[in-house]
Parts: sequence; C-alpha cells; structure tokens
Amino acid sequence: MHLEILTVGDELLLGLTIDTNGPWLSRELAADGVQVARRASVGDQATQIADAVRDALDRTGALITTGGLGPTADDLTAPTIAALFGRELVFDSTQWERIRKLWRERGRPGEPPNANRQQVMIPAGARVLSNRHGTAPGIFLEDERGRWVAMLPGVPREMRGIFNDELRPLVRARLGGVTSVVRTRTVRTTSVAESQLPSILGDLARGFDGMSLAYLPGQEGVDLRLTIAGVAPDEADARLAAGAALLGDRVGAYVYAEGATDLAEVVLAACRARGLRLAVAESCTGGLLGARVTAIPGSSDVFMGGIIAYDNAVKEGQLGVAAATLAAHGAVSEAVAREMAAGVRARLGTQVGVGITGVAGPGGGTPDKPVGLVWIAVDVDGEVRTFGGRLIGDRAEVRYRATQGALELIRRVLSQR
Ligand code: AMP
Ligand code: MG
Repeated sequence: MHLEILTVGDELLLGLTIDTNGPWLSRELAADGVQVARRASVGDQATQIADAVRDALDRTGALITTGGLGPTADDLTAPTIAALFGRELVFDSTQWERIRKLWRERGRPGEPPNANRQQVMIPAGARVLSNRHGTAPGIFLEDERGRWVAMLPGVPREMRGIFNDELRPLVRARLGGVTSVVRTRTVRTTSVAESQLPSILGDLARGFDGMSLAYLPGQEGVDLRLTIAGVAPDEADARLAAGAALLGDRVGAYVYAEGATDLAEVVLAACRARGLRLAVAESCTGGLLGARVTAIPGSSDVFMGGIIAYDNAVKEGQLGVAAATLAAHGAVSEAVAREMAAGVRARLGTQVGVGITGVAGPGGGTPDKPVGLVWIAVDVDGEVRTFGGRLIGDRAEVRYRATQGALELIRRVLSQR
C-alpha cells in the first residue's frame, strides 16, 4: 500500500515549527508495511490545501493530513477537504458534548466558546477518529471510488494518540497480509567512543543477517540502530531481536538499555533491586540529575532527594564539605566531589550518594580547570568511585553529559555488587 502525507501550517513553511509529524508518521507506517510515496507541507490557505489534496488523491488515492483542525479562522483543513469531496459539514452533537465535558474537567468557567463548534463540524458520511488527548477529533473521509483522506490535528501528542488509537487499525485492516515492512531496534551504549565500536563489534560492525547498522552518537552515548527492510513483520521482529542480543553480547558492559529507555530508569531499577536509596548533591548541574531521575514514574521509592550546592557556602553548610578541602583543591576537584557525595548520603540517610562539581562554561575556565571539566563521585555505603574528565559541548551539553556520567558511574558501581 502506498500513501501520502500532507502537513498543514504556515508555521511549517516559515520554519518556525519543525515538522515532526511527517517523519513520525513515515516511521510508524513503514513499520506496518505501508510505503509513504510522498510527503509535502502547505500553508493554511484553502487553495493550497485543496490543490495538494486533489493532486494526492489523483496520484495515490490515500492521504493523511496533519494540522488545521483547530478552533480558529486559519484552521481550514476540514471545510476545504469536505468541499473537495462535495460534502456538507454537519454538527456532531456527541463530539460537542465531549468538548463541553473536557472544558468543565479542565476547570474552565461557563461553556466552551463558539469557536470550538468549528471543530465538531464533520463532513457528511465521514468517520470520526476520536481524540482522547484533546479537543479536535480526527476525520476519515472516503469517496465512492475508495480514495480517502484521514485528517489529524497538528499538535504532535494528539496526532500520535489518534493515529495509534484509531487510524492505525483502519490502515492495517485495509492492508491485508503484510509481507514487507521496515523496522528498527536500538541498542543503547554509553561511555564508549563511537570510534571504539567498530573494532569491538568486529564482523558485526557493518551490519549482519540482512540488517544495516547505524551509529548514532549523542549526549547520552552512542545508540546502535539495526534496521531491516523487505521482510514480513514476524521475521523482521525475530531477526531484530536476535541481532540486538548479539550486539548486546559483543558490546557487553557499555550497553545499558534498548529502545528509548533512559539511563535514569535503568539506575532506578538497579537501586530498587538492591534495596538502595539515592540522594544527589549537585553543583554545576543545578538539579538536572534530580530532574532526570524524578521524570521516571515510580522514582519515589528509590530517590530520597537532593541538595543544589551551587555556592561553596552551601557545600560547606549543607553538605559538610570541609573549608580546608575547598581551599586546598578548589570547588571543582575530586576531593570536593567525594565529600559532596558522602555528605548528601549522610544527611539524607541513603546508601547511595552522588556529588557533581564542574565548570559548565562558557566563562570560568582556567588553564588547569578548563571549561567542561567535571568531577563526579558516587558513594555506595562508603565505597567511593570517581570520574574526572573534560566533557564536550556548550553549557547545556556539559551539564547534561555530567548527569549521564553520574548515572553511568552509579550503574557501574552497582553492577559489581
Ligand atoms: P494546528 O492543529 O495546525 O493548529 O497546530 C497546533 C500546534 O501543533 C501548533 O503549535 C503547531 O506548531 C503544532 N504543529 C502543527 N503541525 C505540526 C507538525 N507537522 N509537526 C510538529 N508540530 C506541528
Ligand atoms: Mg495550524
């Protein structure tokens, strides 16, 4: 099956919003065995939308649009496509009641404005794709010749929700037996350089068993992505699973997860399994590590809390870092990181304590303490491991890489216990 994707919005053409809907849909459809024959973007003008939809229907006869289903005057996708199909717009009272209910649940006063009524004007004979994630329902419209357009809202979260809940099953039902999909599986590594991986991987380095292998370096490490194309879904999944296992064995201790799993989640699970609680003392990361850890659902049984010890006075007063240590080694030093980790562990009463101190930049660097220098200490029941090194990137990247380094150090220490 072939189809096309049209993303609608002036902001996309101006480059003010980056089109993430098109690529996301392409990926999901390819994994289901649907080939996206063309992707295009148009502005919010009715003529632009009508021309693009007409062309797509003539070419491919199957189109998914995103955007332009909102409550304002520039949201023209539904009326424009309805006109193209020669359909009236009909007020959908069920959808209107749903929007009224949402309005009340969100604690807004009175009734939803009349502007919202535009979102429940559905082309006659269309199928509503219900939206559990916001106001605008999606719309599936088909003509007598079996040509169809599925309209989804622009807000990425709502678009993904409606696609998964409603449109994906519809598309799958139309596909029949799928014999050829494109699927991927990602193995996540950290604290290993991209340039080390080919020799570690040896004969697997250029892909294997019909799968290509991509190296994707980023702030969290290097992701290894296996891609397989042109085989049936079950076979794709089986070969990817075997391939990921093979990569895991070969790369060994550098592998921390698969898919999109965050290292913080892995560390929380490792602490939980060992009955350990975690506390953090953060200087240059200013709470970023605590934020990453608490972003994981269920972190409360492991994470006790943290102290943002930015000023030396806080390092001394709240963490018990000795004035003499600060004077002798400076705030960015292994000795201070150790005392921060021990201090937060003692004061918050946990088994695991982390201390992070560094020069995030862009200012503040010196010849022996350059921008990017970070010291991290992990203290588990008094057993201390440290990392010191110069992290690359701008301020945001140095701070993020420092949190990743801290999490990796915890993972390493715990894996040996
Ligand atoms: P709309 O449904 O067109 O009113 O869009 C609502 C919101 O979704 C706006 O904040 C847009 O910037 C965003 N949005 C619309 N289309 C896309 C897209 N293709 N990719 C990412 N975000 C989008
Ligand atoms: Mg818009």
